Amino acid sequence: MGNSHQSRFSTDIHIPYGTQQASQERSVTMPATKYQTGDTVMGRWPGSSLYYEVKVLRFDTRSHLYTVIYKDGTELELREQDIKTASGFQTRSRSRSRSRSPGRRRSRSRSPARTTRRSSSRTAAAVAAAAITESAPSTRRDIKLKDTLEVRLTQEDTKAAENNSNNKHEKKEENNTASKVNEKSEAKVEAEPVKNRYNLRRRKDDGDAKPAESQPEQPEDKEATVAAAPASTSLDFGGKIGAYFWLLFLPAWVLFVILQVNLEDPSLANFPPQLPPLEAFWDAQALGFVILWILFQALLHVLPVGKLSEGMPLRSGERLKYRTNGLFAIVASAAAVAAAVYQGVDLTYIHSRFLQLATATLLISVLLSIYLYTRSRYAPSDQLALGGNSGNLVYDFFKGRELNPRIKSFDLKFFCEMRPGLIGWCLINFAMALAEMKNQGLDAPSYAMILVNLFQLLYVVDGLWNEEAILTTMDLMHDGFGFMLAFGDLVWVPFTYTLQAYYLVGHPNPLSLPAVAAIVILKLAGFYIFRKSNSEKNAFRRNPSDPKLSHLKTIPTATGKSLLVSGWWGVVRHPNYLGDLIMALAWSLPCGFNHLLPWYYMIYFIILLVHRDSRDMSDCRRKYGSAWDKYCRTVPYRIIPRVY
Ligand code: NDP
Repeated sequence: MGNSHQSRFSTDIHIPYGTQQASQERSVTMPATKYQTGDTVMGRWPGSSLYYEVKVLRFDTRSHLYTVIYKDGTELELREQDIKTASGFQTRSRSRSRSRSPGRRRSRSRSPARTTRRSSSRTAAAVAAAAITESAPSTRRDIKLKDTLEVRLTQEDTKAAENNSNNKHEKKEENNTASKVNEKSEAKVEAEPVKNRYNLRRRKDDGDAKPAESQPEQPEDKEATVAAAPASTSLDFGGKIGAYFWLLFLPAWVLFVILQVNLEDPSLANFPPQLPPLEAFWDAQALGFVILWILFQALLHVLPVGKLSEGMPLRSGERLKYRTNGLFAIVASAAAVAAAVYQGVDLTYIHSRFLQLATATLLISVLLSIYLYTRSRYAPSDQLALGGNSGNLVYDFFKGRELNPRIKSFDLKFFCEMRPGLIGWCLINFAMALAEMKNQGLDAPSYAMILVNLFQLLYVVDGLWNEEAILTTMDLMHDGFGFMLAFGDLVWVPFTYTLQAYYLVGHPNPLSLPAVAAIVILKLAGFYIFRKSNSEKNAFRRNPSDPKLSHLKTIPTATGKSLLVSGWWGVVRHPNYLGDLIMALAWSLPCGFNHLLPWYYMIYFIILLVHRDSRDMSDCRRKYGSAWDKYCRTVPYRIIPRVY
């Protein structure tokens, strides 16, 4: 599933993002610092010893980092030692003939400062430099440099959307760096080789640390400050006040929809539902079942069955291992459930005790979050996520501090993301089908119930089949594990994504066969778009030189990665969202139009994906600068062709 399920289990999925707060960085006015806002200085490019002209935008007094902007629009945060005044630099502008000399190339590549790893970054930087167009050159040498750059930019632009035949940009930019450096580096200005490992991070948390995928950092300088998590200054979800709000609102919302959908007439005119007595929320037996379910899933997870996959490199350079046996887990769970039903276990218990099961799971997610927060206080700084280290207890508890909390090799975050809630979603749907038969005296579930069950089962199985893809997602790579994810994984997914099946138990919606056929076609169309587009991008990111993708057009970016501009990603900028939305429509249609509540997922999902799209747009704009603008001009629509 490529990245496909990436976010289903992500922060976005579980939490409506409406209030994500804009960056709260301090410091528009510069204190007594070495460099001032507006200064044009030389900033080191990540992973290299190369310095490029940058403009200082601001200084953060807490993290002591300067936000600078490169000429291609890329913004990064740099330490003071990664910035130098322009006067200390010797500008080298080699002629084409010189740079092409094989002898010169050899001697350059032998230089100790020019390892293969670094040259890759350098190539990226050279491409970034090649995007310079705006600066007004002040000296003759600068004029010559600018001329060279403009010529180079024209070449890049002409090539920008050419075919991806075989090697194309990424191969050129990522793999074949040594010789390429000589060709492209006419624009660069170098300082003496840098002895320490760089400590740069992108401006907004570490959400863009993906370049590490293609160039894993070596764990050579473990003691270097690169691994330590600085205080988080850019807070999401409405910041500290927002964290209080979400902590109260999200559990209340789950309990509300469960109570509301259970009403005979769940229309919003009957809002709020009558509150049952407090003791009705609690059932010790329900808690016992939830604990049993989680332990059973944990047991399946640790069994030495299935693949051991490597995660993405951490800031320390380390790569964690994960047992990706999700498909085995769901098959084994199905077998266990079938055996239980055969033995006479009445699964409709799940329907009749739904509220109590939700409360019990909520309690577990709160206890888990307290444990996670407490242990994070003792975790070394290099193991903290960059976004959850604000120093505010409530915010950090909500957002999550520790990146990969583990008990020995058992990864708590990975397990919660993929197992109890996700497989539990299917179990609950199945139990609702049995409850529907029981309550309505049917011999078989209704068409509507069968469609909802099968559609969502397909979605989950697809996610577990491609479980490895979760390792490259935002949740796994960047977000700390705290209440937001623990609650999202354990409570939000299984108890709100099952709302359609829950609704159908008490509110039948007979479907004609043509209606069934039309909904199935819609679902398959959505699934096709979703799967194909996710797989296309996933395959391209894993191996840009894949011959199967050679027909696709791409444009290069300053980071060395390219962007697809044809195929699915040339139709709209988020074809995978389009497919997912069509599928969401197919999940709600079987419930009919009598009430709004079963459409809750569809409405929530539109808001979520529109917000997620705009978040991704600004992240990509920050990552890729002018190349991203070019992509947006080439592919003007975001999710729905010619509409949005
Ligand atoms: P995407 O899979 O859309 O990934 C976005 C990233 O893809 C960008 O940041 C960029 O990263 C890369 N990218 C963007 N455009 C291009 C391009 N033209 N060429 C190459 N790479 C490009 O991210 P999501 O995590 O939002 O979505 C993954 C899936 O999860 C989707 O199918 C979505 O529908 C689904 N989802 C499901 C939810 C649910 O609750 N059911 C909730 C949220 C999402 P980079 O360049 O760094 O690789």
